[in-house]
Amino acid sequence: MGIKGFSRTKAIHVMLVYTGGCNGCDIEIVNSILSPRFDAEQYNVFLTWNPREADVLVVTGPVTHLNRKPLEEIYNAIPNPKLVVAAGSCALMGGVYKNCYGDIQSEEIEGPVENIIPVNAKIPGCAVRPQDVLAGVVSLLPILLDAD
Ligand code: SF4
Repeated sequence: MGIKGFSRTKAIHVMLVYTGGCNGCDIEIVNSILSPRFDAEQYNVFLTWNPREADVLVVTGPVTHLNRKPLEEIYNAIPNPKLVVAAGSCALMGGVYKNCYGDIQSEEIEGPVENIIPVNAKIPGCAVRPQDVLAGVVSLLPILLDAD
């Protein structure tokens, strides 16, 4: 087992990326990981803002044109193996923004997320429920641990 694998037996780091939604999902996700009510740290799940130490990327929002490149750069900066969770209706299929711009394939909206980067898990909801996000991340842990 390498250093990355060893560290993953101790902790999984989750990075959250916003790509243009209303922030409703972001609030629920930060709550799910940081709040004492859900206590993600009991599963050794921690929030990070550094892609170089992230294991799981959680993406919210419909991926606007302006946010596409930053999303790709963050994804590429995360070391392999890495997993991606698309969280919320916007990330999955454009959500309320799909019709704001006429069509999800318009110039303004470049999502859904799976059109831009590989997605390993999809969490529906508007907004997502904290317990669903946490369950989705925890469900990916065996994949990460097996990959090392
Ligand atoms: S899915 Fe709903 S709550 Fe989440 S970012 Fe989109 S509009 Fe906001």
